[in-house]
Amino acid sequence: MDSNLILILVVDFVILFTGVLVYFHNRRSASNLLFFLICLITVFWSLARYFSVSVIASQILFWIRADLFFAAPHAILFYLFIKDFPSEKSVLDRREKLIWSSLLVGASVLATSPYVFSRLEFEATQVVPIPGALMPLFGLIIFGAILSGVWQAIKKYRASQNQEKIQWRLMLIGITTSYSSLVVTNLLLVILFKNTTFITFGPLFMLPMVIGAGYAILRHQLFNVKVIATEALIFIILAIAFFEIIIARGAPETLLKIAIFGFFFIFGISLMRSVLKEVEQREQMEALSRELATANAGLRKLDQAKSEFISLASHQLRAPLTIIKGYISLLLEGTMGTIADKGREAISIISTSAEQLIKLINDLLDLSRIEAGKIKYEFGRGDFAALMRNIINEFMPRAGAKNVSIIFESSPNLPEFYFDPDKIREVAINLLDNAVKYSPDGGQVTIRMENVGRTLRISVRDRGIGIKKEDIGKIFTKFGRTEEAQRADPNGMGIGLYFVKRVVEDHGGKVWVESEGVGKGSTFFVELPLNK
Ligand code: ADP
Repeated sequence: MDSNLILILVVDFVILFTGVLVYFHNRRSASNLLFFLICLITVFWSLARYFSVSVIASQILFWIRADLFFAAPHAILFYLFIKDFPSEKSVLDRREKLIWSSLLVGASVLATSPYVFSRLEFEATQVVPIPGALMPLFGLIIFGAILSGVWQAIKKYRASQNQEKIQWRLMLIGITTSYSSLVVTNLLLVILFKNTTFITFGPLFMLPMVIGAGYAILRHQLFNVKVIATEALIFIILAIAFFEIIIARGAPETLLKIAIFGFFFIFGISLMRSVLKEVEQREQMEALSRELATANAGLRKLDQAKSEFISLASHQLRAPLTIIKGYISLLLEGTMGTIADKGREAISIISTSAEQLIKLINDLLDLSRIEAGKIKYEFGRGDFAALMRNIINEFMPRAGAKNVSIIFESSPNLPEFYFDPDKIREVAINLLDNAVKYSPDGGQVTIRMENVGRTLRISVRDRGIGIKKEDIGKIFTKFGRTEEAQRADPNGMGIGLYFVKRVVEDHGGKVWVESEGVGKGSTFFVELPLNK
């Protein structure tokens, strides 16, 4: 085989491979597609050029026209590529695409007509193609496209920054090396010195452009060591397989080697795609997890702001409410003078509502404390039974309004132990409040306090709405409420028991509930260690 052809095929192989590589690295990108098309057309162009100087005289004109047939789209696509890069989406709208495609097809068809090269004249050692009437127009299209492309590239290089500037620099180095060497070897040398040595290799001078631009594109999009290493390996294997075809002797051997090449080609492409996909996915995951991390940080901040807001608002609301409640008590006790029965009724209603509000605010405060991780404990030695009696006394009016009787049973001589009286008070209030709230009118609540092993056990039993087995798991969670409770008291928030569980566990104790089922009452148990 002719050594020129071997050189051309090898370079074409590199050009085509770069094109395929770029295309596969981002098949959605318009500029990557354009680049691939330029590479493909350059390969055809170089082959047409080779044949135009290698065939017998009668075929020369055909191949010269074929040469120009490919040179035209090369130039136009080059211009469009530069216009597009680095944008992924085509910068052309539909109308512009139509105009450019028509120009591309028109120029290619023109190239094959006698108006560009009309005929050949044979001189002593040379074949001279004679230009036709439209040669200047054709030349204008080709040179116009390439010069505007280069000019665009320079402008974009100047306007670009950072990463993009590096890309454009690489691109410009490739472009100027390619086109200037093409002009020097295929135009100046020919016209000035009648030296046609390099004509055959004209399109090969596109190699620097292809490598420069290819590298610039890949560098930006996905330049991963693993991917590039895989691709390089595939490239080398394919190059060897290809070389084997070239040096094959005889048809059967050539066919076999073509088959081997084909196999490696398909295998290589699928390997490349899978590696690319994997890396792409990993990069996407990484980007996603970065996004998630920032979103999370934002959410955490928001959450903290919310907790702070709730805590602040609750404090501000609680103070005036406590004053209101204080005066209501004074009014009801008659300290402010006697009040008519109707007035009393109204004040009782106000009192219940104020209590509900206070409970709600306390719940919110508890929640915000838990969320902010800011429950502060002040442990002290105390008598829980005495504390419980106080709480029950406070509850009497409310229970009385519902005709619920409260029974307190306590084993004698319960030991004093360490606990936080304020928090445990809230625990007891929550349990008692629920027991009264979820009891029917005229119900009964029994509170027992006893010593069980090294713990103090408090149980609060009611004959109220009860709890389904499957709901028991959720009532100690944040906002966890049963359907029955929602019906009985739509205002509850499901925070009380969440707080209870937290406080009891922080005391080293445990809390649980037993219930036979809906309508069968429930018993809440709290066990606190005595030796802590
Ligand atoms: P809230 O009472 O505001 O809903 P809690 O956290 O105190 O919030 O209670 C959570 C849920 O546990 C209640 O909504 C209810 O479903 C259930 N629960 C609590 N105490 C009782 C009880 N004594 N009887 C039946 N269900 C109860």
